[in-house]
This record gives sequence, C-alpha cells and structure tokens, in this order.
Amino acid sequence: MRDPLRLPQPSADIRTRRIAVNRATIMSQRPLTHDTYELVVACNQDSNIIHAAAGQFLTLRFPGITQPRPYSLARDPTAEAPSQHTFFIRLVPDGEVSNWLAAGDRSGTEIEIAGPLGGFGLDESTQPMVCIAGGSGMSAIMAVIEDACTRQVKRDCFFFYGARTQADLYCETKIADICARWNAAHSFQCVQVLSEEPPGSDWTGARGFVTDHIDEAWIKPGRIDPNKASAFFCGPPPMIEAGAKLLVQAGMPQSRIFRDVFEDARSPAPVIDNRKCVLCDECLLVKPVENCIVETSGITFGSKGKIDGFQSIKPAFSSGLYHNTLFIDESQCIRCYACVNACPHDAISPDYTFAGTLRQQVKG
Ligand SMILES: Cc1cc2nc3c(=O)[nH]c(=O)nc-3n(C[C@H](O)[C@H](O)[C@H](O)COP(=O)(O)OP(=O)(O)OC[C@H]3O[C@@H](n4cnc5c(N)ncnc54)[C@H](O)[C@@H]3O)c2cc1C
Ligand code: SF4
Ligand code: SF4
Repeated sequence: MRDPLRLPQPSADIRTRRIAVNRATIMSQRPLTHDTYELVVACNQDSNIIHAAAGQFLTLRFPGITQPRPYSLARDPTAEAPSQHTFFIRLVPDGEVSNWLAAGDRSGTEIEIAGPLGGFGLDESTQPMVCIAGGSGMSAIMAVIEDACTRQVKRDCFFFYGARTQADLYCETKIADICARWNAAHSFQCVQVLSEEPPGSDWTGARGFVTDHIDEAWIKPGRIDPNKASAFFCGPPPMIEAGAKLLVQAGMPQSRIFRDVFEDARSPAPVIDNRKCVLCDECLLVKPVENCIVETSGITFGSKGKIDGFQSIKPAFSSGLYHNTLFIDESQCIRCYACVNACPHDAISPDYTFAGTLRQQVKG
C-alpha cells in the first residue's frame, strides 16, 4: 500500500505549462531578399497544437545553438495549417542563428519550437490602423494585417514599411493581395520608405526615415489624425521608440499604441523589483527558458554592489513564497520580454537598477 505521507513528486516543469514545447521540422527556407529568409516550420505529428494568435511570437531552438530565439509569426495562424508556422528571419552580422541559416538550405532539419508568447495583435476598436514596420518587423505586421483582412474589419489601414534600399523590399505581392481583399468600404494604403536608397536611382517613392515621413507627409498635413487612430509597431527598438514618441506628441494616447519590439542579444535583460512582486507566478508561466527566472533563497553582492551569485530553489519542490525573491539570470535570458508583458504588477522592467531593487529586498 502507498505511504500516504509520500506524495508523488511534482513535475519540475509544472509552472511552464502555459506554452507548448514541440519538436518541429523546417519544411522550407526561401530567400525573400539578400539577407532575409522565409522559414516554414511544421510541428511533428505527435505534438500539441500551438494555439497562437496573429501578432504573437514563438521561440525556435536550432541544432547546435544552445539558447532559443524569439520569432514573430509572419502569417495569421488561422490562414495556415494548424501545425504550420511561417517566419521571416533577417540575418544579422555574426549572429549564431544567422550564420546557421546562411550556411545552406536547412529544409528537413528538426528543431524545437515553443509558444505562443506575447500580447501584440489587433485591438477591437474601429479606429483607423496605422501600421509601422521596419526590417524583419514585416513579420508580425503582415500577420496582423492578414488577420484584419480575413475578419473584414471596418477600418482604414495605413501601412508604412521602412527599409534601407529597394533591395530590402519584400512581400509586395502579398501586400497587393491584401489590398485587393480589404473591406471594400474602407481604404488600405501601403507606403514604402527608403532611408539609404542611392540618390539618382530609379526609386520614385518616399525617402528618409519612416517616422519622419509619417510626420511630414501624413500627420502634419492632416491625412492621419493620431487622436482617432491606433498604431501597431513592429521591428527594431529605436524605430519603435522614435515612432511612439512622435505619435504621443501628436496626440495619440499610449493605450492605443501596440508594439512588437525585436529586442536582441544587445538589449538589457529585465530586472525584477521584488518590492512590487506579489509572487503571482505569471512570469514563471510564460518564461520560454527553464532557468531565466529563478526563485532564490539568497543573493550575494560583490565589492561594487553588483550581484555576483545566487542560490536557486528547484521550482515546484519549494515555493518562492518562503523566500520572496525572484531573480532574472542574465546569462540565461534570451531578451524575449515575455515576462515584462506578463507581469500584472509592473514589477519587471529593463529599466530598474539592478543592485538597488534586489539589495533592498534581500535586506528586507
Ligand atoms: C519578440 C521578438 C520577436 C522577434 N521576431 C523576429 C522576427 O520575426 N524576425 C527576425 O529576424 N528577428 C526577430 N527577432 C530577433 C531574433 O530573436 C534574434 O535576435 C535575431 O534573429 C538574431 O539572432 P542571431 O542568433 O542571428 O544573433 P545573436 O547570436 O543573438 O547575436 C550575435 C551578435 O549579433 C549582434 N546582433 C544581434 N542582433 C542584431 C541586430 N538586429 N543588428 C545588429 N547586430 C545584432 C549582437 O550584438 C551579438 O553580438 C525577434 C525578437 C523578439 C524579442
Ligand atoms: S527572463 Fe523574461 S525576458 Fe528573459 S528569457 Fe525569461 S521571460 Fe524572456
Ligand atoms: S509576474 Fe510580476 S508579480 Fe507575478 S511573480 Fe512575476 S514578477 Fe512577481
């Protein structure tokens, strides 16, 4: 007979269940430009379906590369087969995944895929949509626009795409198709803006930074009223910061600005302010990496007040409630910022000062 005091051991990953982790296969790797690939990935037959919405992202772990990377879905998931996901991946100099993809066609390779993550996506308003994408930020914006088109939303859409030169433009056929299928009672306009197109080339479209162009050619002449629109940004952090600042100054409330920010290895890891944390576990439920957020029983500080070590607790075997300190291990964090967006108490931010917040907590 089973000893009633010896309960079954809980699973060590009991708190990570909000995201499905699957084995998947790269079905195709197709160049979209000189430095951007479309990757179509299908989850293996025995895996759980990843119920993602347009605008969300998944993490992909490639063979031989220890840490996964976050990638936004480039298509509305309802328009794809249930187990299939499409991504646009732009190569960066000396990036691990970039070099791996650049080395040859990886079709047929088995990878790990996890998600869904992130809260970016279409809002439910009927305000005009101002969509702004830069570089590989085309991915999530295309998914959101495809979703809006399928739903035949009763909204005008202004889609601005910022790239360097004509060689960096892609998805033009897909955009033309969405334009043709957009709700006939409303308008859909796509404007490509090139920042480094050589003077004197055959380019007759807009030039400069995409945010400057929106300001000069659309907001100042009154063609877009930021007071009566929602904005959807996707791409590199500086572009999104500049664009959001512009729209807020022009009168758009922060609450109507939605962002899918492509943080990367250069971005700061977020920090948990344990004074604000109520140990609700929301961040632990979305973390895509096993040990990026750890529950600690103690933190040690080096001579300059910087954290130089911590004692972690095994998740699900003992609770953070006893210790009251969560800690983001910078060396494990993949900068997906899923925890930042999941925290309902504003306790996680890349802006908190590292030593200050944790030291105060540890000292009580
Ligand atoms: C929510 C989210 C969604 C994302 N979606 C997409 C997407 O749809 N498509 C996409 O292509 N990327 C996307 N990214 C970025 C992606 O996760 C990787 O950061 C990117 O692909 C680089 O990975 P890597 O392994 O090639 O480079 P890493 O090995 O991570 O980086 C290696 C080196 O390159 C430098 N580096 C990293 N990124 C850049 C950069 N952009 N420019 C210049 N130098 C850089 C770093 O300083 C580092 O030294 C997303 C990121 C987030 C957080
Ligand atoms: S600590 Fe946060 S930002 Fe870092 S990998 Fe984990 S969930 Fe993502
Ligand atoms: S989500 Fe925020 S409040 Fe909840 S456990 Fe994480 S840090 Fe604490």
